[in-house]
Amino acid sequence: MKTNQAKRIFALLLTAALLFTLFGCGRAPQEEPSGAPKRLNVVCTLFPQYDFVQQIAGNKVELTLLLTPGADSHTYDPSPNDMVKINNCDLFLYTGDLMELWAADIIKSIDKTKVTVLDLSEGITLSAVEHGEEEEEEEHEAEEHEHSVDPHIWTSPKNAAIMVQNIAAALEKLDPANANAYELDAKSYCDKLDRLDAQIREVVDSAPIKEIVVCDRFAMHYFCKEYGLKYIAAFDSCTSETEPSPAMLTRITEHVKKNHIPAVFYAELSNRNMATKVASLTGVQTLELHSCHNVTDAQFNTGVTYLDLMEQNLNMLKLALGVVK
Ligand SMILES: [Zn+2]
Repeated sequence: MKTNQAKRIFALLLTAALLFTLFGCGRAPQEEPSGAPKRLNVVCTLFPQYDFVQQIAGNKVELTLLLTPGADSHTYDPSPNDMVKINNCDLFLYTGDLMELWAADIIKSIDKTKVTVLDLSEGITLSAVEHGEEEEEEEHEAEEHEHSVDPHIWTSPKNAAIMVQNIAAALEKLDPANANAYELDAKSYCDKLDRLDAQIREVVDSAPIKEIVVCDRFAMHYFCKEYGLKYIAAFDSCTSETEPSPAMLTRITEHVKKNHIPAVFYAELSNRNMATKVASLTGVQTLELHSCHNVTDAQFNTGVTYLDLMEQNLNMLKLALGVVK
């Protein structure tokens, strides 16, 4: 596996180098023939940071999201064209070495005198996911995941604020002419994140139930940790599994009945198989818990934001935690 991946990346690098040569893409970033100030060219891997850059930089930067809307972030592989975009930008943002496992080799090859690389998990305390009994029985699979430390840092608005500050600091340094605007917009966006944080805390504190049941892949570790929510989840965060074992189905179904859980969650962009099964066996409703890895094409085109998705999560939580019926 590793050797094949290395070969693939080498082939991609060769293609990227060839494209540079053919199309002469390596022009200096500060020279624009029109005389207009050149906008900073920013490339990001996943939706959360794409949205954060939009919120604090708007059209002051030229922004590219590598992950196609609707695509599964876990099976993403950079295309030769993506490699050119990364090598040609001024600022490359990624979540962290544990999230974008493909990024490490690319980052090694980037000309750091031209491209600033920002690991957005800087300053964020990573923590390990608690594995359920089922997962411990399947040791061989856990090894493949390579992240017992959870990489989905953005699911906590507190972490999101640190990511925003990391982005603002990089933008201010690379584009000093707009530094004040970036600083102010980052500040006002962090205020919005603070308000969201307070709202979630209020809902969880007032809730009769302090636990969620996720019949799907689970990526909300930092979210649950931040607000003291317990969780029971069917699958590990980044697995491709969607079909529950009979034992897991029984365990979750019994848990829902015994604890009078009013609703179970499925993840975004999911086939909802397991949640539908649990609902049919228990009569509870199914709700979406959006982890913000990526959004659909339609959502992307209407400009949905991280705050929109988290507010949607908050409304779903009110139902699942028994705050509203
Ligand atoms: Zn994930």
